[in-house]
Amino acid sequence: MSEKLSFVNPTANSPWGTYLSQVDRVVPYLGPLARWVETLKRPKRALIVDVPIEMDDGSIAHFEGYRVQHNMSRGPGKGGVRFHPDVTLEEVMALSAWMTIKTAAVNLPYGGAKGGIRVDPKKLSLQELEKVTRRYTSEIGIIIGPHTDIPAPDVNTNAQIMAWMMDTYSMNVGGTATGVVTGKPLHLGGSLGRVKATGRGVFVTGREAARRLGMDLRGARIAVQGFGNVGSVAAELFAEAGAKIVAVQDHTGTIVNPNGLDLTKLVPISRTDGVVGFKAGGDVVPNEDFWEVACDILIPAALEGQITAERAQKTTAKLVLEGANGPTVPVADDILAERGVLVVPDVICNAGGVTVSYFEWVQDFSSFFWDEDEINVRLDRIMMNALNQIWDTADKHKISLRTATYAVACERILMARQERGLYP
Ligand code: NAD
Repeated sequence: MSEKLSFVNPTANSPWGTYLSQVDRVVPYLGPLARWVETLKRPKRALIVDVPIEMDDGSIAHFEGYRVQHNMSRGPGKGGVRFHPDVTLEEVMALSAWMTIKTAAVNLPYGGAKGGIRVDPKKLSLQELEKVTRRYTSEIGIIIGPHTDIPAPDVNTNAQIMAWMMDTYSMNVGGTATGVVTGKPLHLGGSLGRVKATGRGVFVTGREAARRLGMDLRGARIAVQGFGNVGSVAAELFAEAGAKIVAVQDHTGTIVNPNGLDLTKLVPISRTDGVVGFKAGGDVVPNEDFWEVACDILIPAALEGQITAERAQKTTAKLVLEGANGPTVPVADDILAERGVLVVPDVICNAGGVTVSYFEWVQDFSSFFWDEDEINVRLDRIMMNALNQIWDTADKHKISLRTATYAVACERILMARQERGLYP
C-alpha cells in the first residue's frame, strides 16, 4: 500500500504530472517488473537549500535552490542545473525523473538527478552570478560528488558556471575533483564536442527519423523554438544537411522567412539581441503564429509544456524532434499521434548531451582525452543503437516511440532495482 507524495500536487499538464502519466502508459509492457513501478513515481532524495548572497549594492538576497536525485539504481545521479525565475521543486523533480529515463534509454551507467535555482541570472552581475553558483554548490555539496551525483549545464548555465561549481566542490574536499561536474571548459577537464552534443543528438535522431519517413532533408522546412545551446546547434546541423530553417522563436520573439533564415547571420545576432534582432533577414510575427508556420519538422528546444492540445492541432509538421525536456503535454501527444505526426521523444532525442557528458566523466577519470572525431563517431553509434532498439520495440508492440523508450528504459531501471533488492 503506497501513500501519495505529500509535497507535490501534480496537475495534468505540469511537468511532474506529465511524467507520471508517461510512466502509467508503460506499465502494461513491464510484465512482472511492474510490481516495482512505484519506485519511479517518487524521487529517491530531494534537497531544498537557501542561497543567500551579498549583492553589489550591499543588500542581502536569498534564492531558493534544489537538487533532486530521482533514481540511482543503475549508477550515480546525473543531470543539469537550471537557473530560471520559474524553477520549482516539482519541475526539478520531473526533470530529474526524465534524466533517469534518458540515461537508461541510451544505456549509460547513471541514474537521474537535476538541480535548479529560482533566479533570473540576466538580472545578476557576473560577480553576483558567481556568488550564487558557489553558495548553491556548497549547499548541495553534501549530496553531489564524482561517484554520487554529477551536475551539468542546462537552461541559463554554461561552462563558466560548471568551472565555478567544480572549483567550489574541490575547495571543500581539498583536492581538484574534475569529475564532479560535466560541461566544463576544455582546459579544466572538459570534453571536445560537449557544447554541441545535445544539438548534434537531435540532428542524428532527426536524420534517422526523416529517413524512415521517406522525408528528404534537402529542402525540408524546419521551425525551431528556443535558439540557445540546443536549438541553434540543431538548426545549424540541419541547415548544413540542406534543410531550410523557416521560423525561429526565442524569449525575445519570433522570426519567420519561408525561403530560409540565414543562420550565419542569425546565430551571432541572436546571442546579443535575441532572434528579433535579425529583422533584416525575416519577418517578426506574433509568438502564437509560430505554431502554424508551414513546416515539415518542428523542433521545440526551449522549455516544458510548449506543445499544448491547441498547438498540436495547428502544426503542419510531420515530424517533431523534442530538443527540450518535456515540451509536449500528454493530451497533445495523443493529438499528434492521431494526426499521424511522428514524435521523437526528449528522452532519446536530446540524450546527446548526457552521452558526451558521460564521455567527459570517463576521460576525467582516465586523464586521457579523445579527439573530436572519436567523440562524434561514438556519439552517433550510441544514439543510433539506442534509437534502433526503441524503434524495434515500438514496431513490436505497436506503440509510440515515447512509450517504447519508456519500456526499454524502465525495464533496465527496474531490473537493476530488482537485482539489487531492497535495503535493509
Ligand atoms: P539555453 O539557455 O541555451 O537556451 C534556451 C532558449 O530558449 C533560449 O534561446 C531562450 O531565449 C529560449 N526561451 C526561453 N524562454 C522561452 C519562451 N518562453 N519562449 C520561447 N523561447 C524561450 O538552454 P538549452 O541548454 O538550449 O536548453 C533548452 C532545452 O533543452 C531545455 O528544455 C533543456 O532542459 C533541454 N536540454 C538541454 C541540454 C543541454 O545539454 N544544454 C541537454 C538536454 C536537454
